[in-house]
Amino acid sequence: MDCAEDDCENEAAVRLHIPWGENRDVCTGHARVQARQDGVVAEPLDDMDWL
Ligand SMILES: [Zn+2]
Repeated sequence: MDCAEDDCENEAAVRLHIPWGENRDVCTGHARVQARQDGVVAEPLDDMDWL
């Protein structure tokens, strides 16, 4: 599955649980940025130890 961000073709590796919107599956790069927002929970889709 590709990253949910527009113009990003990286493999989605993280599911972001967003309190004010729908869940998004994004790549690690986008997850690092978006997971900093208040209330967002990042859940690895696979076993990863980057968090
Ligand atoms: Zn991405």
